[in-house]
Amino acid sequence: MPKVFNWQINREMEYPYPASPPKKQFAAVFDTNKCIACQTCTIACKNAWTSGRGQEYMWWNNVETKPYGGFPQGWDMKVLSLLGPQTWQDSTYTGMTLIEAAQAAAEGRQVTGYLPEDLDWANPNIGEDESMGLIEGGVAFSLPHPVWSFYLQRICNHCAYPACVAACPRKAIYKRQEDGIVLVDQERCRGYRECVRSCPFKKVMYNVATRVSEKCIACYPRVEQGLQPFCTISCIGRIRINGWIHTPQEADLESPVDFLVHGRKVALSLYPQFGLMNNIYYVPPIHVPPAYLRQMFGPNVEQAIEAYKQAKDDPEMLGVFLLMGATERWIEKFRVVKGEAVGYDAKGDEIARVPLKEPVYIRPNYDAGRSVYLHNTM
Ligand code: SF4
Ligand code: SF4
Repeated sequence: MPKVFNWQINREMEYPYPASPPKKQFAAVFDTNKCIACQTCTIACKNAWTSGRGQEYMWWNNVETKPYGGFPQGWDMKVLSLLGPQTWQDSTYTGMTLIEAAQAAAEGRQVTGYLPEDLDWANPNIGEDESMGLIEGGVAFSLPHPVWSFYLQRICNHCAYPACVAACPRKAIYKRQEDGIVLVDQERCRGYRECVRSCPFKKVMYNVATRVSEKCIACYPRVEQGLQPFCTISCIGRIRINGWIHTPQEADLESPVDFLVHGRKVALSLYPQFGLMNNIYYVPPIHVPPAYLRQMFGPNVEQAIEAYKQAKDDPEMLGVFLLMGATERWIEKFRVVKGEAVGYDAKGDEIARVPLKEPVYIRPNYDAGRSVYLHNTM
């Protein structure tokens, strides 16, 4: 099997196809700390793409409450237990990836995985707002909080080394050269569901009406027009931003995603040990025990949280966070100029401008021109 380099686990690994990096790679950063689990993103995606027959159970975007929530139910616990021990030596992953685990077990499959049962898909929002323990009377109002939960926003990761592509016996799933978006060719697919079994994130879904598999398409018709996906632009918490991601060596620190991932190292991929080099990055929650987060985001999670806490004193980092939700256009580059964060499109035209500090106007309580006292009515 060919060897490819995965910078997220800092080593070479086996993959059925030689590396063939796209010209650009679709990516996003989600700030878990700002999500309020309103599910507006989930509904925006549903309305746009999955309102047809056979798609009733599909949520290409979902937001689940960790530690207990999951769609399909328990997806990550099941995959993690199949993978076995996951060890790291500093930033290098020394355990097996899902593809290496399948090779070692001589399973006769390309990727270690499982096929969810129908009931696993039945409760997309199970566990919402459930914390990891009982809250004693009154303790909910104290900090630091002894119990915790957080929201995890999930779409297809448009992985650099996708498990779904590796597993498809029909070569019906492909990665676009122009933007790295991973799509299922509906004509070639025969519904064997090897992709559903192999994607650890369970982001390929089988349509019983059409008998072929479907998945998040990264809103590619919008991306082609220089627009961000619906889940990003509808986000109430303004937690999301899209951009192109490069390798650490080729990082463009004026690109918002490169800046957060490679520049400030505040955003990490989800379960990097799976070995897919996924392209959705998360700012980890600051209030969750490190042991849990290390398994989920890798060994650099505490550094990422410390870096995130510096955002208020770091105008550039603050600027990128404030550009989240500031425009529906795709921000190619950003700069901080005279106390404002400015976003530019691919042509270099300005498409967004936000102040780093919101101006506050305090009006006098007496308006001499009109001879009236002004009151703030609540
Ligand atoms: S997240 Fe799953 S469906 Fe999406 S590209 Fe990766 S392996 Fe394929
Ligand atoms: S719209 Fe934004 S804030 Fe609301 S659930 Fe989705 S990611 Fe979270």
